[in-house]
Amino acid sequence: MIIILKSDASEDQIAHVVESVEGLGFKAHLSRGTFRTIIGLIGDETKVSADSLRAIPGVGDVIPVLPPYKLASKEAHPQPSVVDVSGVKIGGGSLAMIAGPCAVEDRARMESIAASVKAAGANIFRGGAYKPRTSPYAYQGMGEDGLKLLREIGDKYGMPVVTEVTDPRCVEVVDKYADMIQVGARNMQNFVLLTEVGKTRRPVLLKRGMSATVQDLLMSAEYILSQGNNQVVLCERGVKGFDNCTRNLYDVASVAVVKGLSHLPIIVDPSHATGRPDLIPPCALAGVAVGADGVHIEVHDCPEKAKSDGPQALLPKQYAELMGQIRKLASLFGKTISETPGKKPT
Ligand code: PEP
Ligand code: MN
Repeated sequence: MIIILKSDASEDQIAHVVESVEGLGFKAHLSRGTFRTIIGLIGDETKVSADSLRAIPGVGDVIPVLPPYKLASKEAHPQPSVVDVSGVKIGGGSLAMIAGPCAVEDRARMESIAASVKAAGANIFRGGAYKPRTSPYAYQGMGEDGLKLLREIGDKYGMPVVTEVTDPRCVEVVDKYADMIQVGARNMQNFVLLTEVGKTRRPVLLKRGMSATVQDLLMSAEYILSQGNNQVVLCERGVKGFDNCTRNLYDVASVAVVKGLSHLPIIVDPSHATGRPDLIPPCALAGVAVGADGVHIEVHDCPEKAKSDGPQALLPKQYAELMGQIRKLASLFGKTISETPGKKPT
């Protein structure tokens, strides 16, 4: 931590700052410049908050040397982490291809979508049983019946399944059926939910909140990691923008930013980021090109009848075509799309 003193800090104030930080167990290294005096703190900066130092009279600013997300940072883990979702590897050169409808729907529909995305090369099947809807009057999902059905379909077609949890009280039941637990954009800063999910040992797909910075996303990952669950995959799904030509503003650069700061895998979700089937294929490819560890796409065989997010769904044949392009791009970058072992979770 580096303390920058105010230009008009008095000698008494400087002496008080030194005394205070030494009292906290740091060695203070005072450096007097022409205009400013700075104090370098030598010691474990995780033991003190920068804000409490900012409150000392004479202190102008405090600059932490380490990022506040300790476990998520590259310093903590220089090599990229590889998350294992019931045999499907995400990270370290292995790409996750997550596909399926927005919401879990009836069995026939789920069978048809699962068969088509599996044939196209998807390695994780998705579907929401608890839907986080902006309107309380919109379709809310099938609940536990939906989880059971998703599990059955995943097993039948040999794909691990990912599904969203929206309530800390449902973490246990979602953990029972899913291979990966999704925390959606609207709950990225639901710290009680993050803590509960962190107590499980289930891989977590943590989506970026629609108004969250990259640092906010990494701090939310830290909540999960700090509970001992190190199986976290991040997801860029677009943030609020000023232009309504797309549903959200696809922040594809954030993938490269995260790669520079964290060891955690990060995937992209061009479905929720753009909300437009015509933009999903190019934006999926952009995500892979920028270094994403996977692509999350909503697919529906009859979008007009979808229970949610129909307008942004890709048709199975569009998904298959896109998968062909993703495969070519992935091989150009020396990446592979992890095979599905088709195993049940333990
Ligand atoms: C979803 O995956 O269906 C979803 C609701 O996503 P998000 O949380 O990114 O809006
Ligand atoms: Mn959706």
